[in-house]
Amino acid sequence: MISLDKKDAIFQDFHMHTHFCDGKNSPEEMILSAIDKGLKTVGVCLHSVVDQSIQEYVDLVKEKNFCDEMKVLKEKYKDKIKVLCGIEWDLLTLNSVGEYDYVIGSSHFIKKDDKYFFIDRSEKEFLRTAKEAFNGDYYAFAEYYFAQVERIFDVAKVDIIGHIDLITKFNEGNKYFDVKNPRYVKAYQKAIDKLVTFNKPFEINMGAISRGYRTEPYPALDILEYIKKKGGKLILSSDSHSKDNVAYQYDKWAHLLG
Ligand SMILES: [Zn+2]
Ligand SMILES: [Zn+2]
Repeated sequence: MISLDKKDAIFQDFHMHTHFCDGKNSPEEMILSAIDKGLKTVGVCLHSVVDQSIQEYVDLVKEKNFCDEMKVLKEKYKDKIKVLCGIEWDLLTLNSVGEYDYVIGSSHFIKKDDKYFFIDRSEKEFLRTAKEAFNGDYYAFAEYYFAQVERIFDVAKVDIIGHIDLITKFNEGNKYFDVKNPRYVKAYQKAIDKLVTFNKPFEINMGAISRGYRTEPYPALDILEYIKKKGGKLILSSDSHSKDNVAYQYDKWAHLLG
């Protein structure tokens, strides 16, 4: 289903969103774009349902409608492309994982002292999290974030580890914290040491490039090198929110697979 063979890497994309959550297009439009781009496998996914106070655009009714529609599309396009129905499972999801072909384990929020905070929704929210939850200490924020990421396998049967350093979305050029700071390095290394033991691939994720937040994929090169050194596996993913960005810049970044 998810091939870890490097020769298949540019022919599969498991991370894309549709109008069922925060994407622009329908699942069918995403599938057609994947066919158009010559992919052999396309995984269309949904964000999981979290507390409605922090993410209102997906609920259990939408989750069911999404799965029903994907069932139809799988059948409709089976002679042209392998279609999979996935979910981007947030660590703070409230319900249990349903019937999906695969699960991407991600962390978009943190919960501290019983309050939810955003990591990636907007730069303003990111700053608010640093200030209100960590007194402006970005390294404490990073330590908390990576300690949470480390636990994704505790809450779901994860197949792909999503954008592991999402916390750097607004930190291009070390705008808020230095990614070489020993506290930051120690925090991500500790998470990776644990995550590699599950033997599932980490994403090389283009989502923040296509949307103009970063010039390089997640994870940063230092983290990527560390994952490789620890024997971790990698796959490419677009994290696209529109049909034009399916398999976004795969040609440019496939060399990172090593
Ligand atoms: Zn995500
Ligand atoms: Zn995503």
